[in-house]
Amino acid sequence: MDFQKLVDVYAELEKTASGNTMREILAQFFKNVPVEDISIVSYLTLGQISSEYEGVVLGMAEKSVLKAIGIASGIEQGKLQKILDETGDIGLTAEKALLKKPMTLVPLGTLTIQEVFERLHTIAVMGGSGSQEVKMNTIAQLLQKASAAGAKYITRMVIGTLRMGVGDMTVLDGLAIAYTGEKKNKEILEKAYNICPDVGVIAETLAKQGLLGIEKIDVTVGRPIKMMLAQRVEELEEVSEKIPGKLTVEGKYDGERIQAHKDKRGKITLFSRRLENITEQFPDLVGYLDKHIDATEFVMEGEVIAIDSSGKCLPFQTLMQRKRKYDVEEFVKKVPVQLKLFDLLYCNGKSYLHEAYDIRIGLLEKIVHRGKHITLADKIVTEDIEEVNDFFQKMLKDGFEGVIIKSMATDSEYQAGTRGWNWIKWKKEYVKELSDTFDLVIVGAFIGRGRRSGKYGALLCATYNEKTDRFETLCKLGTGLTDELLEELPVKLGKYKIEHKAARLLVKKEMEADVWFEPRVVVEVLAAEITKSPFHTAGGGYALRFPRFIKFREDKKAEQATTSLEVVQMVGKR
Ligand code: AMP
Repeated sequence: MDFQKLVDVYAELEKTASGNTMREILAQFFKNVPVEDISIVSYLTLGQISSEYEGVVLGMAEKSVLKAIGIASGIEQGKLQKILDETGDIGLTAEKALLKKPMTLVPLGTLTIQEVFERLHTIAVMGGSGSQEVKMNTIAQLLQKASAAGAKYITRMVIGTLRMGVGDMTVLDGLAIAYTGEKKNKEILEKAYNICPDVGVIAETLAKQGLLGIEKIDVTVGRPIKMMLAQRVEELEEVSEKIPGKLTVEGKYDGERIQAHKDKRGKITLFSRRLENITEQFPDLVGYLDKHIDATEFVMEGEVIAIDSSGKCLPFQTLMQRKRKYDVEEFVKKVPVQLKLFDLLYCNGKSYLHEAYDIRIGLLEKIVHRGKHITLADKIVTEDIEEVNDFFQKMLKDGFEGVIIKSMATDSEYQAGTRGWNWIKWKKEYVKELSDTFDLVIVGAFIGRGRRSGKYGALLCATYNEKTDRFETLCKLGTGLTDELLEELPVKLGKYKIEHKAARLLVKKEMEADVWFEPRVVVEVLAAEITKSPFHTAGGGYALRFPRFIKFREDKKAEQATTSLEVVQMVGKR
């Protein structure tokens, strides 16, 4: 397929700030994409060249790309640098430069989507000495073949700034409309996507096998599964209404969630809650999993925590020292860890996703040989809320965050990517009167005054509305931001800055921010109360009172933030 067709779609998407229009543009486009190209096209509309979990990063330096533009356009570097300084955007620089390019022998329109895709892949995996030069020349060749507008998008893609405002859910909507004629079928696609978070695979399966093929999608070892999440209640007593009968109550540990995969060849891969491959951060865990699990193939989940030499749990901040690319071995020794396993999703050729919880945990108990570094989550089984509370108090005394209460009913399957009522969390914050934590997405910022002049004075934070795939504002956050944090914010958020409000953001005029961001960064916020508000859009008009910054939630993606529905449910309970 001609790359220029995708370029035209990018141009249309770039012009719109409406999520609905984006879905329509994509649906129309997908209808005309040949089946063999649909997977590539799905990645490219997201500005990616593979599914996110594969971690294929282009991230070329601006300087090298500028050189490539020089080769393709014949314009010298000084002039190009001037255009870059004026526009502040490598894409616009490429477009301007190539509008002036001399007529080449290669006619326009010969650049195919496959060629762009394959060459970008080659660049991404290329390393070693001399690779910069080869990468630069490869880009130059692509630019020579592309139109000026095409060059704009290719250059943005290679430095990682192509952001069309399209999210995975937008693509699924577009696919549902294009291939089934009905947007409501997106639900079926989303269910499959939760088990297989790879839009390319979903698109190709849908195009080739229809919805029947989509419904058959199951676990593939080595490909992460979106993690199941827990609901919350306001009063512990409500648990028995939501989960009648026998309950398993497990400790809730404040560490990092890990999904561990071992394939037939013995290769172990670890995924984070964001489905990033974090295997290299934990070579010690890979070794323990290899030694302590009696299965040739598995997918299991647990929480990793830092421990001291006696095996006692250490705070979350200590574990965070293990989030590093360098000196990994040194920190393996400095900060030993323990994995508390709590679920089994696949074992020796069989998927357990749709099995009840006690079947999954029963098998997990059989195949795990417990030791200091690998063990199972502490737990009790009971029907009595008093006993749940006693266990909760014990967990707090042991320094943990609270408990997760799990259904043992016959339908207690693993609900991938869903916050269902099969798991309920009960944390210490819930017991303190009227205070709760929210994980919110930063979507904008207001320039500060007085002591904060020149910096961001407050952040505009939003919930995620799963139904509409939009972000809705819930508060302006100014409290709890230390001086260091105020310095850090523009750097941390700068790369997500966009010209207009994010396409999927629902915001009132009164909350128009000075700076807008692509919804990417998630923060944990503590608040005392939820009130009705005419200025915010969350759940149809709710806001937080006295919000306070607690910490960044690097482990969460924007779509994993507190949902608008959760906010509404919390109000209903108060
Ligand atoms: P939250 O991040 O507050 O929504 O709580 C859910 C998180 O608690 C999960 O993503 C896990 O990382 C963590 N967690 C800790 N212990 C458990 C457990 N026993 N079962 C499930 N999740 C747990």
